[in-house]
Amino acid sequence: MSSQNNDVIIGLEVHIQLTNLKTKLFCSCSTNYRGTEPNTFVCPICIGLPGSLPVVNKKVVEFATRLALALDCKINHKFWFFRKNYHYPDLPKGFQITQYNKAGGKAFADGGKITVRVNNHKKEVMLNRIHLEEDPARLVHKGNIAISPFTLVDYNRSGVCLIEIVSKPVIDSPEEAREFLKQLKSIVQYTGISDLDLQGSVRVDANISIKGNERSEVKNINSFKEVERALSYEIVRQKNALKRGKVLIQETRHWDDKRKITISLRSKEFEADYRYFPEQDLVPLEIDNIFIQKVKEKLPEMPNERALRLRREYMLSEFDSENLVLDKEIADFYENGANSDPSFGYEEYKQYCNWLMNNISGWLNENNTTINNTKLTPKHVVDLIKNIRNGKITTKIAKTYIDEMMKGTSVSQIIKKKGKKRIYDEKIIEKLCRDVIEENPNIVKDFRKNLKALEALIGRVMAKTKGQADAKITREVMLELLEKSKKVEK
Ligand code: ZN
Ligand code: MN
Repeated sequence: MSSQNNDVIIGLEVHIQLTNLKTKLFCSCSTNYRGTEPNTFVCPICIGLPGSLPVVNKKVVEFATRLALALDCKINHKFWFFRKNYHYPDLPKGFQITQYNKAGGKAFADGGKITVRVNNHKKEVMLNRIHLEEDPARLVHKGNIAISPFTLVDYNRSGVCLIEIVSKPVIDSPEEAREFLKQLKSIVQYTGISDLDLQGSVRVDANISIKGNERSEVKNINSFKEVERALSYEIVRQKNALKRGKVLIQETRHWDDKRKITISLRSKEFEADYRYFPEQDLVPLEIDNIFIQKVKEKLPEMPNERALRLRREYMLSEFDSENLVLDKEIADFYENGANSDPSFGYEEYKQYCNWLMNNISGWLNENNTTINNTKLTPKHVVDLIKNIRNGKITTKIAKTYIDEMMKGTSVSQIIKKKGKKRIYDEKIIEKLCRDVIEENPNIVKDFRKNLKALEALIGRVMAKTKGQADAKITREVMLELLEKSKKVEK
């Protein structure tokens, strides 16, 4: 796919709310506004009343430093904030306090990179910069923006700290954009600065063009999942326009996530339209190397380092280890379990990983939750693997335990409750096989001509035992009995 798209140029601007900060960027209002009454988490500063003065939240600098280090950016040691002027109901002051890397201004940090994997090859997507800015208020419409008879404004979000990550325009397909965001989400989770699963914690603007043509900017894509879709739509739209001989103009478009289309909002404004100038109400910020070093020491192991270590310590494949580390909760869960049983070796490490990545992750996706929100413990999975290993249950049966395990029921309790111990008692199996042979003379006759009919007979035993009879023993016993009855027939 990406080779077909090599005429596509994509750059992403990702806005992430620092949801793990307790207070807003320039005031002490709480950031924990989700699900609250509108306009209750506000003060003169974040609704921009005249005479109010902003004060920088100290913790912000530490959080931004964590992300800058994790993304391998170069942190600017001294910077100040800028005003970006535009008039809109979500911006009560008439300007947004942000950072600007021109006119003597600097971003929080420059450069950086995110390594992505597409079609089994790795690529480093380089970043332009990351910078800090305040979130505007939230506009609420009845139905959608086009038909709503009114606009409501909720200032609870106003002034929450955003960190903006700007990639270079080097992404060449919607799939690569998806992988980029997947890795970014993972890195953000490891730094502990934000919970990107929270509604509205992330917004993406995407610049996209077909080589040699003007670009469009698709604004306010409200979830990572929608980005790939919006980009795919936009590529088709631009290519079709070009095919019809149209000239593309630089414009700002809106992603309508209900209709799944982009709509032209306005021809693109230019930077000069915003009349950026330094924010005189705030003093410049200075960050020294000692501070950066301290933050670095507290930073946890990042996903790519962790994947390398998991490969060494648990002999996992590159693919498995990279998938496992994506979600920090899952990776922590894995290590807690894999380390807890001294009898575990290569085979069990691999099985443990498979259970997590397949059946358990599948269950979490289906139920739209995360592993720490369930009652599943690492011991559950350890016990499951051990019971399969010692022959008490089959893998098939184990899969039926997942629902119960998620509720916290122990594996031994489930075995007792379900009575689904694997049947490996030869006498019981022999009795079952005799019954099946007697009840199915036609299949037995078929078997004399075609050995494949054996499967049908084994299937009958499985049906009688709901899959609990040991398949290997059943097969052996059944064959023996059929051989014997053949001799009798003669
Ligand atoms: Zn406030
Ligand atoms: Mn921005």
